[in-house]
Amino acid sequence: MTAPDYPALESELIALLGARGATSDMRQREKASVDGARMSPIIAEQLPLGIADLVAFPTTAEQIAQVVGLAAKHGVAITPRGKGTGNYGQAIPMPGGLVLDMSRARTVYEVTEDTITADAGAPMTVLEQAAKAAGKQLWMYPSTVHSSLGGFLGGGSGGTGSIAHGSNDNGFVVALDVVTPESGGQLVHVEGDEVLGYVHNYGTAGIIARATVRVEPAQDWRALYASFDDFYGSLSVLRELGKLTPAPRLVSADTPHISAQLPPDDAIPADRSSLRMIADPAIVTEASAIIEAAGGRIEEVHEGAGVSAALSVLSYNHPIEWLQKSEPGVYFHVEVSGDALIDRIDEVHAVYPGGLLHAEAAYTTPIGMLAGIYESPEAVYAGMDKLRALGVGVHNPHQWNVDFRLAQTLELAAQTDPRGLLNPGKLNPDYAGSTKGAIG
Ligand SMILES: Cc1cc2nc3c(=O)[nH]c(=O)nc-3n(C[C@H](O)[C@H](O)[C@H](O)COP(=O)(O)OP(=O)(O)OC[C@H]3O[C@@H](n4cnc5c(N)ncnc54)[C@H](O)[C@@H]3O)c2cc1C
Repeated sequence: MTAPDYPALESELIALLGARGATSDMRQREKASVDGARMSPIIAEQLPLGIADLVAFPTTAEQIAQVVGLAAKHGVAITPRGKGTGNYGQAIPMPGGLVLDMSRARTVYEVTEDTITADAGAPMTVLEQAAKAAGKQLWMYPSTVHSSLGGFLGGGSGGTGSIAHGSNDNGFVVALDVVTPESGGQLVHVEGDEVLGYVHNYGTAGIIARATVRVEPAQDWRALYASFDDFYGSLSVLRELGKLTPAPRLVSADTPHISAQLPPDDAIPADRSSLRMIADPAIVTEASAIIEAAGGRIEEVHEGAGVSAALSVLSYNHPIEWLQKSEPGVYFHVEVSGDALIDRIDEVHAVYPGGLLHAEAAYTTPIGMLAGIYESPEAVYAGMDKLRALGVGVHNPHQWNVDFRLAQTLELAAQTDPRGLLNPGKLNPDYAGSTKGAIG
């Protein structure tokens, strides 16, 4: 096989997108070839896993399709990229090729009674603002609030709003315009169950150029900050708070040690277990009573436009990121789920030296991130087996393989991408190592 003609592709991309629309500049290529993978010490040891030969910056869904058409014509690998916050290396262009940076394709088209439609690069914060201007809110968005719509659908799972709506494959996606190497530079519109073929598989079956997702009537959220003497107190109310009606948008709990690593805030006392909740005003009194009856203390209740985002950026993987920032090189984490996180917390903590859980109320059972002191890959994997034996669901965030509906993705990708040009290295038929992540 002959090597791809990158200079020819670059010229064609510049003719299509303009002089600033494509580049082979080394700094831009390097920037486009990293994501949040450094969160994993196991992946960090393997970096750099790949570097783009070219980067393209389309500004519309139609241009995204045309760029894919040109790259496919040249037989060039294509790795889609949103904001690059994915944390397993899944946005890294492993064999090089073209990185399709979506960040300039950010048009929001319309907000209807129950949907919003936007190009793939639109940040989730921008979508939420557009929804709010129409009296709506997104069903959900990830704690990486600036990440892109396409990246959240292609690589994420859920977050703020997931207590009520579950993960992003649970009715959130109404329609997609996708492009594949076989679609000849054209957008293909899919709706209904067909959209699932393109959700959470890292663009390996098709690249999302435009998406329509669910909104609902806006709520006037409150941020409720509480604390307990210890983590047992926070955990004792997490499930009950998650079941209140109307459902909270988020309920997060941290150990005193993790609470102390969060950004300084009087509402998060450093020596106590912090419990934070995005709550509808209708449940604030009931939630406060539950917390106080369990020995907790209400620290502050905030209202205003920014409260939902303010607590979101302290949820899911973020407390672990703060822990890693304050003690660099010490901690790794695994993504975990299930009632055992609460019912068997001492055993869960004991699985890894220095074990510390960050917990979230979720759709069915609690989910969380279990941090531990990093020793070796073998110790990480052995711990995962111990967690499973305790009845804990485990997702391995130290690998980049598609692990959600793998068989269906392989079948679809065989038709849409028979040459394997889409995000190569991520779709491995033999991978059966874990289940879809609660998080990313
Ligand atoms: C601190 C931290 C906290 C996080 N919290 C959450 C959380 O609360 N919930 C959650 O779900 N995730 C979370 N994540 C993971 C990640 O931030 C989310 O998945 C995020 O939504 C990804 O969006 P992005 O725009 O950064 O995508 P990227 O990182 O750029 O891409 C993610 C994946 O999707 C693919 N992709 C990008 N754009 C497209 C497209 N248009 N079509 C098809 N595939 C595409 C990429 O190739 C890559 O495989 C977290 C990560 C970190 C580091």
